[in-house]
Amino acid sequence: MSEAGELIEKSACGELLSQNEIAQLLNLRDAGMCREMYRAADELKRKLWSDRVTYVVNLNLNPTNVCVQHCGFCNFRRSDGDAESYRMTLDECLEHIAARINYGITEVTIQSGLDRKTPVEFYFELVREIKSAFPRLHVHAYSPEEIAFISERTGESYGNIIERLKASGLGSMPGTAAEILVDDVRRRLCNEKVMTDEWCEIVETAHRIGIRTTSTMMYGHIETMQDRAAHLLRLLDIQRRTGGFTEFIQLPFVAARAPIALKRNLRSPETVEALNVIAVTRLLFREELPHIQAIAWVKRGLDEAVRSLHCGADDLGGTLIEERITREAGADFGSYVPADELRARITNENLQPVQRNTLYEVADLHSSEDKGVFGVTPNDEVHLRQSEVNQCR
Ligand code: SF4
Repeated sequence: MSEAGELIEKSACGELLSQNEIAQLLNLRDAGMCREMYRAADELKRKLWSDRVTYVVNLNLNPTNVCVQHCGFCNFRRSDGDAESYRMTLDECLEHIAARINYGITEVTIQSGLDRKTPVEFYFELVREIKSAFPRLHVHAYSPEEIAFISERTGESYGNIIERLKASGLGSMPGTAAEILVDDVRRRLCNEKVMTDEWCEIVETAHRIGIRTTSTMMYGHIETMQDRAAHLLRLLDIQRRTGGFTEFIQLPFVAARAPIALKRNLRSPETVEALNVIAVTRLLFREELPHIQAIAWVKRGLDEAVRSLHCGADDLGGTLIEERITREAGADFGSYVPADELRARITNENLQPVQRNTLYEVADLHSSEDKGVFGVTPNDEVHLRQSEVNQCR
């Protein structure tokens, strides 16, 4: 058996691979070996989740694009005073949600630029006001970088800030701004951002407080395969200590219009790289971090996202109404896919679509009474229900 074949078998049996071995699998290019790895990852996915594929009906809110930082991959940010800069007021944010609530959304995701003119209290008020106007909406908000930004401005500890946000109604946090959790890469890609240890500290603080986060990796720019492998092992280490990650989301670098791509002539990663990340993370994270989101359709299109459902992914992500950040970076795959289309694409693959909420629970959304939610555990029986119009009111 080839060395790659042995590694695939080893990881399929649940043995933890070393950083070098993970890097080798991420770097696989031989079509036969890749197929073998995707098959092993798909088999593991089926053991955990059968033919079920989840999705969430969510809305994105980006209250401002004014940002003091200059990350190499970001074309969303604008400087204060730029013609295309904007700041939404609290009322505008609420109107933005109200105008889209009839899509049956269960989650609002909030991420912004880091803007010194936005009062710190705005972060808390926004969560409070959303929960007051739409009590059933799950507020998934503020990356670790935004928590660090609030802390820098107020001098408050991360713990205090997250506690206060939780008291305001925060449900969970996006594990974005992770990019690649290797300081040497961060210094060259986004040197104004928190470094690796600080990102981990913020995320672990949130987990300890009972605020779960997603885990992400933004890859395919200047990092090496060893860096990717180190990043994945760091996430696994956190998960083993806190269990606070809800899922793993891979975010392939979008080269079009990214400042660092123009400077260094970088390209977006190939499909095989993205599929390899899906398969390797499934084999590495197993039941410890059991939800692997498909390749982000907003960055790469639905065809590629659906293909990754056969390589270890068990979730197709969100309907994502209005996602400006990726679009500004040059991805041209739109900003909204209706839930019916996501369901149809899953069914076409002979897989079973299941609507979930942010915490991977499946709600009886069709009921007029609030019966609560049912946790989804591997291979439980799940009854599919259509979301009710205006369910979050
Ligand atoms: S990625 Fe976020 S922090 Fe970095 S420049 Fe863009 S908006 Fe600012």
